[in-house]
Amino acid sequence: MGSYRVKVLNTIAPEGLALLSDGFTVGAEVDDPHALLVRSAQVDTDAYPFLEAVARAGAGVNNITVDKATARGICVFNTPGANANAVAELVFTMLGLSARNLHLAVEFCRGLDGLSDEMINQQVEGRKGAFRGLELAGKTLGIIGIGKVGVLVANGGILRRMRVVAYDPFPALENIHALSSEVILARSLDEVLRQAHILTLHLPLNDKTRGFVDAALISRLPAGGVLVNFARGPLVDEAAVLAALNSGQLSRYVTDFPSAAMLGHPAVLASPHLGASTEESEEQCACMAAAALRDYLRHGTITHSVNFPIAESIPAKNVHTRLLMINRDIPDMIGFASHTIGDAGINIASYLNESNGVIGYNIIDLEQPLPPEVVARIEAHPGVLRTRTIVFQG
Ligand code: NAD
Repeated sequence: MGSYRVKVLNTIAPEGLALLSDGFTVGAEVDDPHALLVRSAQVDTDAYPFLEAVARAGAGVNNITVDKATARGICVFNTPGANANAVAELVFTMLGLSARNLHLAVEFCRGLDGLSDEMINQQVEGRKGAFRGLELAGKTLGIIGIGKVGVLVANGGILRRMRVVAYDPFPALENIHALSSEVILARSLDEVLRQAHILTLHLPLNDKTRGFVDAALISRLPAGGVLVNFARGPLVDEAAVLAALNSGQLSRYVTDFPSAAMLGHPAVLASPHLGASTEESEEQCACMAAAALRDYLRHGTITHSVNFPIAESIPAKNVHTRLLMINRDIPDMIGFASHTIGDAGINIASYLNESNGVIGYNIIDLEQPLPPEVVARIEAHPGVLRTRTIVFQG
């Protein structure tokens, strides 16, 4: 039995759970958890009084009450990029199917089952012209959103000898560094729209991006282009896309988000939200989420979180106790913590402070034990949301 209790709310790949084998009690039946490991189950963080962290094995966190968690100083982790390769591969698989009419062609071949070889050959040679397609090489691929998925799709386009033009108003530097040098970085959305034979969406869904692809945007694309949406269904105004497919302004809509309005249209090719559905992606998400919980509970370190700043610090050999102070991001919290500890005659071996504008996160390493009354004095400050104390030496 381990000292940290981790409640598992969905089926999590065993490779991830294996990372919590030492020092953790893990399972669906765990009561009063310190941490939750979850995929798509709804989580009300207020329902767990001892909760310190939640890790979602996946990218989105809209099934978790993040605001409530932040208010209580609970760290919420996701697994950005763990499923990016799975999505990018599916984008090109579906684009390839669509460009070569393969979904129809495969269906046609299936329908020839039972005929003689001679008849099959006759049908194949007689009908293959109906499935004549287009090649991707030489086409301009427009990418909206240069995140974890967008980078891989952009680089995949270059590998297929496409011309790739990508746009993102707030790209992360590490993603820009991961882009092939042949990808053209557009300075405006319009620069992408007016060139893209194929426009692919890789931006998040939020209040600003809902209905991002509307009639006005589609009218700025070259006539007869292809729209690809493996990001989120509501990024697209479906009525506008249908009108554009009917007028010929768009020739295809390829999506991972089937809907009643779109499915009947012959120019729509849909997969059933399969973007992240691979063994590798589920394993990678589970490992990333479990490792985040393990490192946070054991050492208080944060490599990626949706509500806490990144904070990484390896404790030196001489460190006896690590105090983690989680506070509102207001002035003088560092001074308050160091004075309170110093006034108790305790030397601070190292102090790391990080903030994200909402949460201040402090890793304070001490060479000796920290008396409970000092911790209580720190916790009593109105700006402090919570503290955690990790003892490395008994
Ligand atoms: P990410 O956070 O790494 O990247 C998103 C990028 O979009 C960021 O760089 C951001 O700056 C950019 N962006 C935000 N608003 C924009 C705008 N108005 N115009 C252009 N760019 C904008 O996310 P990711 O992991 O690359 O995922 C991208 C999308 O793919 C997400 O919406 C996610 O929901 C979706 N997704 C779908 C599946 C699936 O199963 N089909 C799986 C994983 C991710």
